[in-house]
Amino acid sequence: LVQWGPMEKIILYYKFVKIRDTESVKFWQRVLCERLGLKGRILISSEGINGTLGGDIKALKSYKRAMNEHSLFKGTEYKWSDGSADDFPKLSVKVRTETVTLGLPELTPANSGQRLKPKQFHDMVANDPDVVLFDARNNYESAIGRFKGAVTPDIDNFRDLPDKVDEYAHLKDKKVVTYCTGGIRCETFSALLKQKGFKRVYQLDGGIVKYGEKYGDAGHWEGKCFVFDKRMSVSFSDDAKDIGQCIHCQAKTSNYINCANKTCNKLTLVCNGCEKQLACSGVCKKSLTTIA
Ligand SMILES: [Zn+2]
Ligand SMILES: [Zn+2]
Repeated sequence: LVQWGPMEKIILYYKFVKIRDTESVKFWQRVLCERLGLKGRILISSEGINGTLGGDIKALKSYKRAMNEHSLFKGTEYKWSDGSADDFPKLSVKVRTETVTLGLPELTPANSGQRLKPKQFHDMVANDPDVVLFDARNNYESAIGRFKGAVTPDIDNFRDLPDKVDEYAHLKDKKVVTYCTGGIRCETFSALLKQKGFKRVYQLDGGIVKYGEKYGDAGHWEGKCFVFDKRMSVSFSDDAKDIGQCIHCQAKTSNYINCANKTCNKLTLVCNGCEKQLACSGVCKKSLTTIA
């Protein structure tokens, strides 16, 4: 039997679990991934592990097997998506003091919002025009894709979200559903909303990725899904729309570049027609010409 199709894939996973010896887990992960030729990003903290890895399908399956044999990491769920090791510049394995809990240890999955499977989420949004969808991601992520009508906070970094939430206090009595790429940020964010006094808090289980796998671009989702690797974004079908705006001509686009001014480096939406313009602003453009 001949198997067609790409032999490489990308996996995405996270698991909340108390990790005492983060340094030895880091060492083990590095050796494991290097042996299997995987590239990507793994973050380890005392509260859990979070990874995105690209590589040969067989190697990724071996990785899963090794994880399942580890007492801390067995039972981790993995999401598969199209891509390869080449979508990542290298393998990065890091220990962080706080990966996803915003430094607020009481915000645990045990205190988080009620989980909705993609279908439950889909039906709730279809049947209840009053439900508020709350994007837990950064501004540059929601700029190119989001659920229709969602609240999209203007933040550059997840850690800025707790301060921002107070601006949405008027939504406290509404039914609120949080969503993010794969579900991990919502574990913390939905717990934060509850702590802040939001009464009916839900979260999209498996995030945009799981919803997109099921409904493509025929449901409540609109645009492309930002991802933190070289691909920059993924589409759920050929019908995916560009909803971002080129900063130069306002044409619809999902193309991100990093501002060519190295001290700025900001992610900037630039359409194909304007691709010769490499700076994010007049100031950055000037600094480029000065150097030249
Ligand atoms: Zn343009
Ligand atoms: Zn710039």
